[in-house]
Amino acid sequence: MDNCIFCKIVRGEIPCYKVYEDDEILAFLDISQTTLGHTLVITKEHFDNFLFVPKDLLTKAISVAQRVAQSQVASLHASGNNIIINTNEVAGQTVMHFHIHVIPRYSSNDNLRLEFTPNAIEKLNLPAVANKINKNL
Ligand code: AMP
Ligand code: ZN
Repeated sequence: MDNCIFCKIVRGEIPCYKVYEDDEILAFLDISQTTLGHTLVITKEHFDNFLFVPKDLLTKAISVAQRVAQSQVASLHASGNNIIINTNEVAGQTVMHFHIHVIPRYSSNDNLRLEFTPNAIEKLNLPAVANKINKNL
């Protein structure tokens, strides 16, 4: 994709701090460095987001993400990691080229804020919701 910033990184037209590379996958430091070592794992081929990535490439990307997460613990002494995939604008995706955030965590007071606010589940028809999702798997 001509104007995709991550495709430009893959082609070497924009610099990056490379963490890992093979024929299909590239990992590099996220420019925001939400926490030190925040890394993005991408497929070299352009897919707009998670929903469109073929299964074999997804497997390879998540496997690299796991290795990066393990190395963040081993090399940067992170206490844990958040693995985040934002899919579409509504979920905070700003670069429309599939990527996995691998974010090392050093303390619960660092720069990353993630909040899962509970819903009032007694008002929800959860069996119907589970069924609806199940139907299209
Ligand atoms: P998302 O909001 O999930 O689409 O994340 C996109 C991420 O790409 C953000 O965390 C940005 O900081 C990061 N980003 C954007 N441009 C670059 C770049 N040139 N090099 C490294 N990371 C970038
Ligand atoms: Zn792209």
